[in-house]
Amino acid sequence: MTMDREKMAEAIRSFLEGVERPIESEDLEKTPQRVADAWADDLVSGYAVDAEAELTWTEAPEGCGPVMVRRIEFSSVCVHHLLPFFGRAYVAYIPDRRLAGLSKIGRVVDAHARRLQTQERLTVAVVETLERVLEPRGVLALLDAQHTCMTLRGVRKESSRMTTLVGRGVYDREPETRREIVSLLRDTGASG
Ligand code: ZN
Repeated sequence: MTMDREKMAEAIRSFLEGVERPIESEDLEKTPQRVADAWADDLVSGYAVDAEAELTWTEAPEGCGPVMVRRIEFSSVCVHHLLPFFGRAYVAYIPDRRLAGLSKIGRVVDAHARRLQTQERLTVAVVETLERVLEPRGVLALLDAQHTCMTLRGVRKESSRMTTLVGRGVYDREPETRREIVSLLRDTGASG
């Protein structure tokens, strides 16, 4: 999937006109194209990535316990203000027959984060990709993020860090199992 960078650059030109900065200014001359490239190449590059295809797996050993991947750094863009939010993801799953490579979980988070998102949707998207591809006995994701649309705009600073949690399978059905894994994830740095 390709993006219309010219259209994006054109919109930035209009935006800058709205800000009433002279577009002829040397500093701004290349800004529209730079902005378009930054968004297409990085900020919303996840649209070009098939998250499920990123998640390759191998046969899980018999009786495999929970697998946790902590402190996955991510950055995303809030769909409401087009401002970044960023933080860490903590993912746990109990394999049935499929075991994901550790780096693959991070790629799934990235594929979904590099889009226009809400933190809630991002958390669900990560969990659902793992659920579909790995068919685990349970899967849970906890995301802890700082939203610049709250910190920069100076509203509700005290709640500028947001935590979202989604569990499926045993992590949905069994509150005790869920509590246990969340506490394990947190003990090892989910609050840091
Ligand atoms: Zn926002």
